Amino acid sequence: DKKALALLKGQESRTIDGKRVELAGNIGTPDDVEGLIKNDAEGVGLYRTEFLYMNNDEFPSEEIQYEAYKKVLEGMDGKPVVIRTLDIGGDKKLSYFEMDEEMNPFLGYRAIRLCLDKTDIFRTQLRALYRASVYGKLRIMFPMISSLEELLAAKEMCQKVKDELKAEAIAYSEDVELGMMIEIPSAAVISDILAKHVDFFSIGTNDLIQYTCAVDRMNQKISYLYNQFNPAVLRLIKLVIKNAHQEGKWVGMCGEAAGDQKMIPILLGFGLDEFSMSPISILRARRLINSVTEADMKKLSDEVLVLGTAKEIEAYMDKFIESK
Ligand code: PEP
Ligand code: MG
Repeated sequence: DKKALALLKGQESRTIDGKRVELAGNIGTPDDVEGLIKNDAEGVGLYRTEFLYMNNDEFPSEEIQYEAYKKVLEGMDGKPVVIRTLDIGGDKKLSYFEMDEEMNPFLGYRAIRLCLDKTDIFRTQLRALYRASVYGKLRIMFPMISSLEELLAAKEMCQKVKDELKAEAIAYSEDVELGMMIEIPSAAVISDILAKHVDFFSIGTNDLIQYTCAVDRMNQKISYLYNQFNPAVLRLIKLVIKNAHQEGKWVGMCGEAAGDQKMIPILLGFGLDEFSMSPISILRARRLINSVTEADMKKLSDEVLVLGTAKEIEAYMDKFIESK
C-alpha cells in the first residue's frame, strides 16, 4: 500500500472529470516542512504560528518571526503558504503573558480579538510576515473572525504595516493574499458579505463543530455530540463554499475533517478547492480524489444532505468507502 501511494507523488490532485484541487498540509513549526515535502504537499494550508509564541519565554521578536516565516516560504519553494496570525487563548496559554480567568475561555479573549486589542503584538507579527513575503507565495489568514468589523480592522492593520514598510524602504510582496478562517457560525452565516473582502476562506471544522453544536471540543463527557457529519455543520460548510464561489473566491478547509476519507467525497461535492491536512493523509486523499468524478460527488452530497443525523450520514459514507 505504501508503494502504491508513493506512485502518486508528483501527480496532480484532480477528479476524473477535471476538477483540480490543492492538497496542502498543516504545520506547527518550520521543521515540519520536511515532512510536507516528503508527502508531496502542494502547499501549506495552515501554519499555526502560536507554537512560535508558546515555545518561547517572551513574545518572539520581529526578527525571530521573520526568520521562521522565511524558512517556511523558502522551504516550500514557491508553493502557496497560508500562515495564520496568532491564535492564543481558549486552551492555548503563554507563560509570559497574563490572561484573566474566564468563565468560558473558548468564548473569550482569544485570537483576533486579542490581536486587535494588543495591536503592538499584531503589528510585530504582520511586519515579520510582510518582510518574509518576498521569499515565496504568502497567504495571510486571520483566525476566529466573527464579524465584518473584525475583518476590516485586521485588513486595515495590514495596510498600515505595508505603508510603514514602504516608508522605511523595506521590501514586501504586493501579491500577498488575505483570507480568514470560517470557524464561527456567525461568520459562516454572513459569508456572502465577508467573501467580498477576502481573497479566500479556510474552514476550521475543529472549532466550527464546537461552536455550531455548543459542544466543548475538549470535554470527553459530551464528545458523542461532537461530530463532523452533523447535518447542521455540513449545511454551513456547503453555504460557505457557495457564497465564496459566487464572489469568485476560493475555499479551503484546514480542520481535521479535511483529511478524513469519509468527508472528502462530500467536500468535493460541495466544491471545496483546497484541503489542508496532516502530511501523512495527503497521498491517500489524492488517491481518493483521483478515483471519483465531481459530478458523482455532487449527487452523493445532495443525498447526504437529506439525512437527518450524523449517524446516518456516517453510515452512508462507510458504505460508499467500502464500495470503492
Ligand atoms: C480549526 O478550528 O478547525 C482549526 C484548524 O484551528 P485550531 O484547530 O488550531 O483551532
Ligand atoms: Mg480553530
